[in-house]
Amino acid sequence: MRIDKLLANMGYGSRKDVKILLKQGVVRVDDQPVKDAKRQVNLETERVTVQGEVVEYKPFVYLMMNKPAGVISATEDKVESTVVDLIDPSYAHYELFPVGRLDKDTTGLLLLTNDGAFNHALMSPRKHVDKVYVAEVDGEMTTDDVRHFAEGVELEDGYTTKPAHLELISKSGRRSTVRLTLSEGKYHQVKRMIAAVGKHVERLERVQIGALELDPTLEPGAYRELSEEEVDLFF
Ligand code: URA
Repeated sequence: MRIDKLLANMGYGSRKDVKILLKQGVVRVDDQPVKDAKRQVNLETERVTVQGEVVEYKPFVYLMMNKPAGVISATEDKVESTVVDLIDPSYAHYELFPVGRLDKDTTGLLLLTNDGAFNHALMSPRKHVDKVYVAEVDGEMTTDDVRHFAEGVELEDGYTTKPAHLELISKSGRRSTVRLTLSEGKYHQVKRMIAAVGKHVERLERVQIGALELDPTLEPGAYRELSEEEVDLFF
C-alpha cells in the first residue's frame, strides 16, 4: 500500500498531514528516510517508523460496539446505515465485518473483526458460545414460560429450540423484563421464542457473548478495541 495511505489509515493524520511528515523526513522505511508519498510499503516485511516510533503491524482487529437501534449488522448497504459506517475511516483498510447479526432494532453487544477464525470461534454451532439478551416484553412472562424455555420451545416453523435459560427480572403491569441465555442463534430467535408463548418483544438488547459482557461505559454507537485477554476468551 502507498505509504501516505497507510499512515493516514493508521491514524497519523489526513493524507495532507502525512505528506508534511514525509517532507519533514521523519518517516523512515528500514531506517532510510522516505519522502515520496507514493512509495509502496509492506508492514509485514518492512520496518516503518514515524519520528522514531515503530508503526506496528497488526493483522487483526477486534472491536466491541454498543450497537444502536436503527443500523443494520452488515458491511455495506445502498439504503440503510450499517454498523461498519459507524467505524472511524482509520480502520477502513482492515475490512471489518460484524460477527453475527443483530436485528436493526436490537441494541447492545456486537463484535466486529477481520479475523475469520475469531468469527468461527464465536459463531460455529459446535463451539456453543452462549449469547445473553435482555428483553422488554409486552405481556406477563411467567414461571411456566421459564419451564417451557428450559425444555425447548416450538417456533412457528416447527423448529424446537435448544433448552434456553430464562430469568424473570421485573414486572410492571402487563410488561415484563427478562434475561434470556441462548446457546444457538436462529433468525429472530428471541422474538420468535417469546412470540411462541404469546407475547411480544418491544425492546431487545444483547448484553453478553460467552464470558464477555458489554462494556457499560460505551454509549450507543461507541466502540473500543478488545484487550488481548478478551480476545483470548474465545480461542
Ligand atoms: N434474537 C432476535 O430476535 N433478534 C436479535 O437481534 C437477536 C436475537
